[in-house]
Amino acid sequence: MKLIPPIYLYENDNNNHYILREDLIPFSFGGNKVRKNINFFKEILFRGCNHVVTYGSKSSNHARVVANFSVKNSIKCTIITPENDEKATFNSQINHVLGANIIYTPLNKVKETIENTLNDLENNGERPYFIEGGGHGLIGTKAYVDAFKYIKDFSKTKNIRFDYIFLASGTGATQAGLVIGGFLNNYSSKIIGISVARDSQRGAQVIKESIEEYFTEEKIPIKNLEINFFDEYLSGGYSKYNQEISMYINKYFNLYGIPLDTTYTGKAVYGMHEYLKNKNIKNKNILFIHTGGTPLYFDYLKEITNV
Ligand SMILES: *Cc1c(COP(=O)(O)O)cnc(C)c1O
Repeated sequence: MKLIPPIYLYENDNNNHYILREDLIPFSFGGNKVRKNINFFKEILFRGCNHVVTYGSKSSNHARVVANFSVKNSIKCTIITPENDEKATFNSQINHVLGANIIYTPLNKVKETIENTLNDLENNGERPYFIEGGGHGLIGTKAYVDAFKYIKDFSKTKNIRFDYIFLASGTGATQAGLVIGGFLNNYSSKIIGISVARDSQRGAQVIKESIEEYFTEEKIPIKNLEINFFDEYLSGGYSKYNQEISMYINKYFNLYGIPLDTTYTGKAVYGMHEYLKNKNIKNKNILFIHTGGTPLYFDYLKEITNV
């Protein structure tokens, strides 16, 4: 699978805006979940597991990608999902098409349901493998440590250095990988995660733990790397959005033909522009990492057109 998505200049206003189109990775609508799960499925096949279990909401990009890789590799797939999540979304419909086994659970019983599911599978003689929600964990982090080399190579070839790198941050594994990648490649750039759910303190703490986990595993002395994780642009919480986010989603599609979504990339683009405006940042090279989630763009269209 060719994993090198394009980076290109899409706007040149007060700053030079570049975008890394992770959404164009050529499998299952791309995105950071494809990059992470390529690593997870290597591990699953290596271990000879035959049933993957993961957790995700109905709109989860991670769950869709896991379901898709499972079919591709002839591995059974069970997705544990919160039961109060009524609305069908494009991702939940795709999971259905892919034949994933869906188990609904009350939110306060997620842990228990995961444990019971894994035990039942083992008792039935299967070899289950559990992937944390969102593809969180060292294997997911590593995918973005490795991906940093595209940024480095692009910088070298085009002779530009990105002063800022922005992205939508959820569990923070993607951000942790990029921060480590920047450090290992000796690339000084301010990496800014726009939170899509967590408060700054918890978000930054989890990223710090992911970074330490990586250094421990690689037997590199732990470094205190800069973590920028901002919760100012949440606009009410996970999957909530405001008029400005809608404005950016429409603008990006109209002007650049780039789909953004209300939960991740649209929120991060909004946060990025607010940050640059409020800090009066000009004449810098800015890279936005488009982390994918294209099916959510269509959910948004359905929502705003009421059909
Ligand atoms: C999951 C996801 C994220 C967040 O990634 P983390 O590594 O969990 O921070 C960002 N954007 C999109 C489109 C996603 O699906």
